[in-house]
Amino acid sequence: VTIGTKDEAGGARPDRASPFSAAPEQDLLYSQTADGSRKWIDPIVMRGRFWKIRVGLGWVMIGLFVALPQLTIAGKPGVFLDLARRQFTFFGVTFHPTDNLVLLAFGAVTIVTGFVVTALFGRLWCGYGCPHPIYLEFVFRPIERFLEGKPAAMRRRNKGPWTAGRAARKGAKWAIFVLISLLLSMTFVSYFVGWDALWFGLLHDPGSNKGALFAWLAISLLVFFNFVYFRDQMCTVACPYGRLQTVLYDPNTIIVGYDAKRGEPRKKKPAPGDPAGDCIDCGLCVRTCPTGMDIRRGLQMECIGCAQCIEACDKIMLKVGRPPGLIRYTSLRELETGESRFLRFRVFIYGALFLVALGALTNLIISREVADIEVLRGGREPYRLLSGGDVANILRIRVTNREQKKQSFTVKLLKPKGQLVVSQSPFSVPGGKIATLDVVARVNVGQFKRGQASAVFMVQSDAGFELKEEFVLLGPYN
Ligand code: SF4
Ligand code: SF4
Repeated sequence: VTIGTKDEAGGARPDRASPFSAAPEQDLLYSQTADGSRKWIDPIVMRGRFWKIRVGLGWVMIGLFVALPQLTIAGKPGVFLDLARRQFTFFGVTFHPTDNLVLLAFGAVTIVTGFVVTALFGRLWCGYGCPHPIYLEFVFRPIERFLEGKPAAMRRRNKGPWTAGRAARKGAKWAIFVLISLLLSMTFVSYFVGWDALWFGLLHDPGSNKGALFAWLAISLLVFFNFVYFRDQMCTVACPYGRLQTVLYDPNTIIVGYDAKRGEPRKKKPAPGDPAGDCIDCGLCVRTCPTGMDIRRGLQMECIGCAQCIEACDKIMLKVGRPPGLIRYTSLRELETGESRFLRFRVFIYGALFLVALGALTNLIISREVADIEVLRGGREPYRLLSGGDVANILRIRVTNREQKKQSFTVKLLKPKGQLVVSQSPFSVPGGKIATLDVVARVNVGQFKRGQASAVFMVQSDAGFELKEEFVLLGPYN
């Protein structure tokens, strides 16, 4: 699959003289001029069936984004990524660094899901699920249009002098954008700090919460810059995920495509008897595109699969009495041969990988114990020789309590024969917390072979948890 070639539509390049032609003289981004400066894109909106689906899904995503850190599930936030304490809560379940396998499996499921969805449906995520287009198209641009009018009126005003009216419109727009950026950023930071802690900290003692305050203001600035200026460049220049997705395409992947066989040769007003395709070269598909691209030049990197060009062209086709679908969801293979294969080898491979990753994740979550322990070396020396021929290993036993309620733990040394000196027994750990117990394992020097003795610790809790953990004790090299 060649993506990014600008003249895939059977050599039918758009009319350079057309006012709607965004095609550059060289192979450049549509939002870029030959001297590298920015070409501003103000798309017009086509409110068809796909737009309605996108709006609905977009507001569900916005609702989830705002609600998740504020929801309380099983006494915990819906999502809370507590980096400071290295605890990650999802829907009432808290994961700790000791759950690294669960986090690894979760990462694998996410990545392979991306593979499957992209191989089947192309940039479905970009068009329907990504927060960037969602906020740009359904929050920021509607406000801009409300205050500054339709793209043509806005362009006209922007080219003119600064009048009181223009300043008032811009000022009101930027003020609202600042406010939304602050709210958006605060919601984002609350995923890492906690909603209550963030509000409480910022309102009551901002001086002691400088980190959160700085993160909030810095992210607000980035959000504001992105939605006021950067906009489509995020999708076409900055987003690595967009690039990665195009690598996963194959000729059967569902894309938004222009049927060049049917559309070409495009003619605005063909003379009688003049061979002409269905495209009347109205340019509406280009004017509605949020990345400013011309879909008639074939599949290109800039296409985020938003389907606005489909809505535009269908409208035109119905107006001129031709069947809709000149631009449609299709595949490169279907455009070429009229046939397409939905299920294919790579989809089965990705599907199998997905099932393996999901199975592993499910198994790891189901089989999670109510606690976890880690035995770590403590002290500065590997061991200490005691009088009477004993060897002391200073250790730390880190206990993760995954229960919501407090658990009391006891630790025993099962093997080798020796004594375990514990700083506290039983040892209480509050619900959802990690605590460390200092212990000294005292074992006779005769137990060591080549400087090592394999030990087994048993940790039990009053909640019925029991775990045996193997560990190598260090001693003199006999
Ligand atoms: S070409 Fe069509 S589907 Fe692709 S980004 Fe532009 S309007 Fe959206
Ligand atoms: S909207 Fe349809 S008819 Fe108009 S230029 Fe685009 S492809 Fe051609």
